[in-house]
Amino acid sequence: MELNLNILPLAEWLPETIDLPLLIAGPCSAETEEQVMATARKISDENRAMVFRAGIWKPRTRPNSFEGVGEIGLSWMQRVKKETRLKTTIEVANAEHVKLALKYGIDILWIGARTSVNPFSVQEIANALKGHDVPVLVKNPINADLQLWIGALERINQAGITKMAAIHRGFSPLSQSNYRNDPNWKIPVELKRLIPDLPIICDPSHISGNRALIEPVSQKAFDLQMEGLMIETHLDPDNAWSDAKQQVTPAALHSILDRIVWRQPESKDAGFVKNIEILRSQIDEVDEDLVNLLALRMNIVDEIAESKKISNVTILQVGRYEDILKQRLNQAGKNSLDLNFVKGILELIHQNSIKRQEIIMNKNSFK
Ligand code: PEP
Ligand code: MN
Repeated sequence: MELNLNILPLAEWLPETIDLPLLIAGPCSAETEEQVMATARKISDENRAMVFRAGIWKPRTRPNSFEGVGEIGLSWMQRVKKETRLKTTIEVANAEHVKLALKYGIDILWIGARTSVNPFSVQEIANALKGHDVPVLVKNPINADLQLWIGALERINQAGITKMAAIHRGFSPLSQSNYRNDPNWKIPVELKRLIPDLPIICDPSHISGNRALIEPVSQKAFDLQMEGLMIETHLDPDNAWSDAKQQVTPAALHSILDRIVWRQPESKDAGFVKNIEILRSQIDEVDEDLVNLLALRMNIVDEIAESKKISNVTILQVGRYEDILKQRLNQAGKNSLDLNFVKGILELIHQNSIKRQEIIMNKNSFK
């Protein structure tokens, strides 16, 4: 699959991120002008986040709940932009939202998880964006479908938007989970591998669904080289009109950010560079030995197969496999290795050994 997205580096359209991760904070929903202004002032004074978020139109799971204040909220966002140091971002879910967001000078748009799931909606938004130079953040679709996420990113990029980032907000859990939305980290990691130029930030609020998990999820995101966070922040979280359980106060946000360690993908420190070089060359040698040992083992397996074939003996001897497992796991335990990890590797080796023996033993067997 060819992935030719044309993406501008984050620091070129958001210079605050040259030395800092991209931090977006603000309430799930804009509720009143006072709530928006007071929250934005507090976040601005705390001097951490550079972008203020607020939902203007809210995609709610069930009808008859609060669905956002609508256009009036855009004028409150304009005030935030004018009266604080913060840039503004809102969710857009259709062409009309895009038109209004641009009319009110919203700095950054984001596409929500219930919209990125639908190619018709994403295309409608992409068409409305044509000819406009506004940054767009694309949340992952609610289901764990990387291709759908990539498709949404491509549609926006093909509309001429190069100031882009992805937001990882987790995926609807298929079974009982500690998270409101399962992080399924391998999906954003794979996205980064496929589109290395694309900045990815994490939304720990929607992954967690509660305040306690926000910090560990944020740390994990940074450990996986994500480039920023979007954290729902409300002056009075318990009384928020949406997502009350997962929002934090600006002061709590500040202390969470104080504790999280933002790791750099690299360090120019000469001592670190030298040390890591030595360790990496040791790893290279060990890996080479591992592969050579595997080859050696499989050659022996092939010889065993030849001799079983001649003597007409079955491929699998359960007792022998049990003994191997027991002995090797004993050895693994003595070396403080994770037993499940070693067991998994032994199982893979065993499967491959059987496969090789089958090939050899069935070769010309009906002649
Ligand atoms: C939100 O950010 O408030 C929101 C609705 O998020 P999501 O699209 O991730 O559910
Ligand atoms: Mn929310």
